[in-house]
Amino acid sequence: MLSPTELVLSDISVPLSFRSSPKARRLALRFDAQAMGLVLVLPSSASRAQGVAFALGQEAWIRRQLSRAQEVRQAFPPLRYQPGDTLLFLGEPLILELDWMNPLRSRKRLRPCRIEGGCLKVRIPQGSGLAEIRKRIHAFYKDKASQIIHERLEELGTFYGSTYRRVSFRDQKTRWGSCSAQGNLNFNWRLAMAPIEIVDYVVAHELCHLRHMNHSKAFWAWVEKAIPDHKEARAWLRKNEAMLRR
Ligand SMILES: [Zn+2]
Repeated sequence: MLSPTELVLSDISVPLSFRSSPKARRLALRFDAQAMGLVLVLPSSASRAQGVAFALGQEAWIRRQLSRAQEVRQAFPPLRYQPGDTLLFLGEPLILELDWMNPLRSRKRLRPCRIEGGCLKVRIPQGSGLAEIRKRIHAFYKDKASQIIHERLEELGTFYGSTYRRVSFRDQKTRWGSCSAQGNLNFNWRLAMAPIEIVDYVVAHELCHLRHMNHSKAFWAWVEKAIPDHKEARAWLRKNEAMLRR
């Protein structure tokens, strides 16, 4: 990994980072909407200067990506983690409430987050900052995602007669789930924000990869056995991705 820089266009400059890839055959430019920046993949045959020249030639594409990302950001501004913020849980809105507690008096082992009357109540020691609030909320989602997805895996796994190995939960930027050749499954814990039909689709999708390690017709026919409306689920994920990834 080389150090990041900026790509200077006529009136704006865009953060640009380089990724050397011996496997890549040509230069490739990607847009990272979360970082609002560019990633340039450099094959070993290309110099950094060649890469920059290539990126400069993609100005129209870069501007399109930037304006699209800005629109999405306006529609779904990043969460502030302030009381009154609306969070989603299984497709339903929850209003964030902070329950400040005296760190000296707090009893140990109190659950830091709970759902009550349409609110997500987060217990937090007085004086905690934004990072601590976010950490507790993310831990809550990860915990719920694990619980929900394990349940769905059990049911859909039985339906498909599939056996998997390890299940892990992460916050991948571009994926909702993945399945390794060793049979390990990985899910994005942000799925706990989506309606259960969407969780079911992603779980079924990864289970079907245990049988078909591709997106062939046979793969989709297998997905369809449990999720007849998988096309709608995919469309929902595409449409609501920015909202879930805030
Ligand atoms: Zn897939």
